[in-house]
Amino acid sequence: MNTNEKAEVLVQVNDLKVHFPIYKKGLLLHQIGSVKAVNGVSFQIRKGETFGLVGESGCGKTTTGKALLHLYPNYTTGDVIFDGKNITQYNEKRMRIIRREMQLIFQDPFSSLDSRMTVGKLLEEPFIIHKILSKKERKTKVESLLEDVGLPKETITRYPGEFSGGQRQRIGIARAIALNPKFIVCDEPVSALDVSVQSQILNLMCDLKEKYNLTQLFIAHGLNVVKHVSDRIGIMYLGKIVEIAEKADIYKNPLHPYTEALISAIPVPDPTVKNDRILMQGDVPSPINPPKGCPFHTRCRYASDFGGICMNTLPEMKEIESNHYVRCHRY
Ligand code: SF4
Repeated sequence: MNTNEKAEVLVQVNDLKVHFPIYKKGLLLHQIGSVKAVNGVSFQIRKGETFGLVGESGCGKTTTGKALLHLYPNYTTGDVIFDGKNITQYNEKRMRIIRREMQLIFQDPFSSLDSRMTVGKLLEEPFIIHKILSKKERKTKVESLLEDVGLPKETITRYPGEFSGGQRQRIGIARAIALNPKFIVCDEPVSALDVSVQSQILNLMCDLKEKYNLTQLFIAHGLNVVKHVSDRIGIMYLGKIVEIAEKADIYKNPLHPYTEALISAIPVPDPTVKNDRILMQGDVPSPINPPKGCPFHTRCRYASDFGGICMNTLPEMKEIESNHYVRCHRY
């Protein structure tokens, strides 16, 4: 057993499913199907680590992150165990207490902040909602939060609309860490930002992770972004995790054909290096009616090599090397 295996687990997810019903139009609600956004996902996040969750748009990664925060209680099955407590069946009242410890950094810093509130009010609000700190203490805390995210304290009296995308994301991050949470879901926090400010925000998040002793789920659609921030990475495709490994193993020794394709899509900033990009065939199938067998078989270049098993049988998740799991019949 290596040291990572001994690390305490903060978030344990077992067979998580989020299926959104589809209803037929009419006077009476009649369910005719469901969008299987997350379709049987299991993983764990250890205390103090950043777990990267990567996949194309529509693979279910954001829905997974939000389901961990109990945002879809009516459509979720499976177990989410947070800090030793199974929160899956928690009602809103019990979740209110836990929510202080679980926060979300939004993808879009332009719509995630109320433009009618000053930055000071936005950052003060979590303390007012949870009835903690006096007015004077709140002001001191808000100033220290701004300092932590690299913004001057004069920012307090200004409105979100007066800031650039990167600055607004700093405000969003300050709000997420305000209550000293244990766990943060970072939902593509730099994808809406200019490339020039993305690395500044990623560096800030790494610094704050250390300072606030945070555990993070970092969601991204490409492997280039998570490389900088993650300890371990899960690759998600059509509602399922298809590979999980330590960061170094994902980049050096990808096992799943989908991971191989994602790695080949990482831009290389050297024009002399030949780009051997693996082109995937077709589009991602619909999560309303996912294909039988391996969900990736309609796009996999190896799918016909195994005598039809890929089209008919869903591969199990197997540990192929130490801490390196993959869902593929090639192994
Ligand atoms: Fe490709 Fe078959 Fe592996 Fe699926 S199980 S990824 S179709 S080789």
